[in-house]
Amino acid sequence: MEEDCIFCKIIAKEIPAEVVFENQHTLAFLDIHPNNHGHTLVIPKKHYRNVFDTPEDVWTEIMKTVHHIAGAVRDGSGAKGVNISNNNERVAHQEVFHTHIHIIPRFENDPHKPWGSKSYEDGAFTAVAESIRNRIT
Ligand code: AMP
Ligand code: ZN
Repeated sequence: MEEDCIFCKIIAKEIPAEVVFENQHTLAFLDIHPNNHGHTLVIPKKHYRNVFDTPEDVWTEIMKTVHHIAGAVRDGSGAKGVNISNNNERVAHQEVFHTHIHIIPRFENDPHKPWGSKSYEDGAFTAVAESIRNRIT
């Protein structure tokens, strides 16, 4: 348990949460400020900051839970689909620094927009691909 981590406090039952699913490795509960009703967060029971320090086996357990409950989140919310998303570091809008995946129910004509898109120019497409490839161990 990490001091001052709100999600660790939820795991320790020091603060309340609307839990929808729990197993040995993960906990899923409603986001208190939902994008849409039924917005659910899936977290590991052990504290990690985000994708960069979460071990592969823990990440796998998180995604297994996401996969297990996604249909229930959709149907239980009366939604037509879901977005599954994850923010890593402040620049990517991470606010709670305990690894978590968002399952966000989506409805016809709800106000949420897809991410914007950019273009590549002057060889940047190939260059950034090469830069990424060179760092994958
Ligand atoms: P992120 O921006 O990806 O770090 O998302 C953190 C999410 O945690 C936000 O959507 C918050 O609404 C949510 N959140 C913060 N505190 C609580 C809490 N006590 N219970 C449930 N969700 C929370
Ligand atoms: Zn934590």
